[in-house]
Amino acid sequence: MHPETSHQQQPPVPRIIPRREHNLSRKNIDPDALKVLYRLHRHGFKAYLVGGSVRDLLLGRRPKDFDVGTDARPNQVYKLFRNSRIIGRRFRLVQVFFRGGKIIEVSTFRRAADPDSDEVLGSNNTFGTAAEDAMRRDLTINALFYDIADFSIVDYVGGMEDLQNQLVRAVGDADVRFHRDPVRVLRAVRHAARIGFTLTRDTRAAVNEHRREFSLCPTSRIRDELMRDLQGGSAASWLDLAHRTKVLYSLLPTLEDYYGRGPGAAKRRGQVIELMAKVDQAVAQGQPYPDAVVVAALFWPALVHKAKGLELPPGRAGRVTWGGFVRENLPALARPVAFAKRVMERACQTSALMAPMLQESPGDRLPKKITDKGYFPDACLLGDLLGLNLRAMAGHGQAKTKPGGAKRRRRRRRPNRRRRRRPPAKSNQANSTAS
Ligand code: ATP
Ligand code: MG
Repeated sequence: MHPETSHQQQPPVPRIIPRREHNLSRKNIDPDALKVLYRLHRHGFKAYLVGGSVRDLLLGRRPKDFDVGTDARPNQVYKLFRNSRIIGRRFRLVQVFFRGGKIIEVSTFRRAADPDSDEVLGSNNTFGTAAEDAMRRDLTINALFYDIADFSIVDYVGGMEDLQNQLVRAVGDADVRFHRDPVRVLRAVRHAARIGFTLTRDTRAAVNEHRREFSLCPTSRIRDELMRDLQGGSAASWLDLAHRTKVLYSLLPTLEDYYGRGPGAAKRRGQVIELMAKVDQAVAQGQPYPDAVVVAALFWPALVHKAKGLELPPGRAGRVTWGGFVRENLPALARPVAFAKRVMERACQTSALMAPMLQESPGDRLPKKITDKGYFPDACLLGDLLGLNLRAMAGHGQAKTKPGGAKRRRRRRRPNRRRRRRPPAKSNQANSTAS
């Protein structure tokens, strides 16, 4: 059945997997999410745990967040929870707040709005049934429901089988679904890479077909999805799969010559994957690198290769040359993705300080003027990633004084001329206008 037209046809009968046949235990569900589920259920509504949390719990992983699906309308949910608010314009959902800033999101089941429309990214936000809600989801493994009424899994899409067979499969016709929302291409690759699943043949073919359609999506959405991939803890395996599916080169065609093909590409790709593995490690330790550092690392092997043959004289002169090169080339490499301006700026600033990695004689100290910069700590982090100890070059925080130990000159204050100048008299002004 076509998921975008599902509500026109007979609703599918779900496969119900009873509690004794699956391993999703309430012990692993967030207690506040359980409270929400139970209260909805007690008031006669359907209450399902939905989306990524069901997938992760079935896989024995810790979910990032716990989302709830229900047939209660947003205002009905709102009335049940004092600590809640309704958000969203396109699709209203309820956020229930708990201690420590925790939020459980409760969405009313929805369906794709206009089944006849072929419009890409059409607004899909009308309320629907549980079956329709499953059919509008991206991947079968993301479309499983956990029913608090009897602790069973409700499976409209064959997600349980795919989970067991370690397959990532689009819900419905991959070709249509990925065309309707090309971000689903990125989501398919993300989930396959993150949990080491295989894309089914259809889904992989649709990835290949629709990876060229990212430009139909808002640039901010593509950028945010890419940052999620880089900062989500599986950037190394993502990069590898994004290379193999060529999704990486649809996002950033500028990288194809460096990581995708030609002599040395495999080596550079190996380098960037290694850098991303370090980024993943930092995420796992709860200390992720700043976005700008990760972006700089993504382009680093390409940038270095591009700089082949660039002469970097010793010390400061080399640093200046390298800084100029970075400013000219890094934004150009990154241009196809609209990275946030401040992220790009900082990626340039930090990459520019990596000159000692490439100089034969870098000098052993960085002037205070540099180590005092606001971006120096981020540059040190990028250095850590790339294997350059910038802190050791910081000259212990003291700049050299001028020869002869000259004192800092005090700025002399200029007399404020404006204050002294008398405003022109009104009568004069009037006269001059009249004359
Ligand atoms: P993560 O662990 O990264 O949060 P997730 O699967 O929970 O993974 P979310 O972005 O939190 O991903 O989305 C929640 C759910 O919403 C998904 O599991 C999926 O069912 C659905 N979803 C998200 N984006 C789309 C989309 N573009 N098209 C269809 N369904 C989507
Ligand atoms: Mg999620």
